[in-house]
Amino acid sequence: MPNAHTHPALKSWIPVPADHQFPIQNLPYGIFSTADLSPRVGVAIGDYVLDLHEIAMLDLLIPVKGLPAREVFAQPSLNAFMALGPAVWSATRGAISSLLSTNNTTLQHNQSLRDKVLLPQSEVQMHLPIQIGDYTDFYSSMQHATNVGIMFRDPANALLPNWKHIPVGYHGRASSVVVSGTDLHRPQGQLKGPADAVPKFGASRKLDFELEMAWVVGVGNPLGHPIKADQWRDHVFGFCIFNDWSARDIQSWEYVPLGPFLGKNFGSSLSPWVVTAEALTPFLIEGQEQDPEVLPYLQTSGPTHLDIELEVWLQPAGGQAHKISQSNYKHLYWSVAQQLAHHTVNGCNMRPGDLCASGTISGTERSSWGSLLELSWNGTEPITLPDGATRTFLEDGDTIIMKAYQDLNGIRIGFGEVRGTILPTVS
Ligand code: CA
Repeated sequence: MPNAHTHPALKSWIPVPADHQFPIQNLPYGIFSTADLSPRVGVAIGDYVLDLHEIAMLDLLIPVKGLPAREVFAQPSLNAFMALGPAVWSATRGAISSLLSTNNTTLQHNQSLRDKVLLPQSEVQMHLPIQIGDYTDFYSSMQHATNVGIMFRDPANALLPNWKHIPVGYHGRASSVVVSGTDLHRPQGQLKGPADAVPKFGASRKLDFELEMAWVVGVGNPLGHPIKADQWRDHVFGFCIFNDWSARDIQSWEYVPLGPFLGKNFGSSLSPWVVTAEALTPFLIEGQEQDPEVLPYLQTSGPTHLDIELEVWLQPAGGQAHKISQSNYKHLYWSVAQQLAHHTVNGCNMRPGDLCASGTISGTERSSWGSLLELSWNGTEPITLPDGATRTFLEDGDTIIMKAYQDLNGIRIGFGEVRGTILPTVS
């Protein structure tokens, strides 16, 4: 059920078209700067950014208990704010929602104040929203795991025996997670095809994207103290779109026995706006049935999956963007609650700013598969673009754009986009 700040009847005095992804029900947080303003916390509303640092300095936020607003909103990451916990998150969101709603005149009727605290998004630079401590990547889409198992290992036993018991994951690398708009050079490394006796060195010829969503830890847990699955909302601050770029030819040679390494850690792209778990409450749904039954520590009560439409667009250099996949976050077998419970069940401590990605999200239909590895079936079945060009994997100059949104009761909640262009190898 929507609460007061997600209710579809709520309206802002800032004009926001009906299908806009940042209505007053959304209010995602990000970090922005301009030529004159150092990086700070902002909230997206329509085509504007609300400067929370300026709002705090002007004492315009209704006092929120436990919120050192002047300090946390001047930071170049959301970490300090996220660490304050769900009561402060919710109260702050309520105060911002109130300032922006039609029945509040504080900003609405004061043009000079509005000019000071509202900036067009087209005039700001967005930064990574969080200082990422650790980054973990799960592998939670059954269709994706099945497709990769068929291609890389054994069609008869595509899904490994542990997959339906464990939300499988691995520790990735935080240093190369970049914000949307950051271009990446094609990686090089050891390549060995099935027919090669020994590996050769060179630029990856099987460069790929992975359509994922990521969740951000706001409040961690002490070492040795697991987080229960049903407590996920006390810890998870919000969600972003995530492109986990992958070099399949490097990956397929290196991944045995310890898993992905250089085929993954050359770059992953994060969307700049963090959509809060609270704003996504209306989009929580039950996941698919889990059979066999999962162990008690992975069991949840109530809906913990999210119904969010996902799109992948490929734009060749100088060409038009073309949609090559339409998927949905709900296709995941394992939910965020289960991923968090599993990650900490051994006592592993999470910290504010930790980032966990879903793994490639592929639905059952081929049109919903979330990587070129799957869409081109490991390069054997090229996809065709509207201009007649074909792709098996990414070419230099290709841009990948991912979008996420969902509509409910006439309200669209969007995540913006994550985009990146492939540049030639640096040799
Ligand atoms: Ca991945």
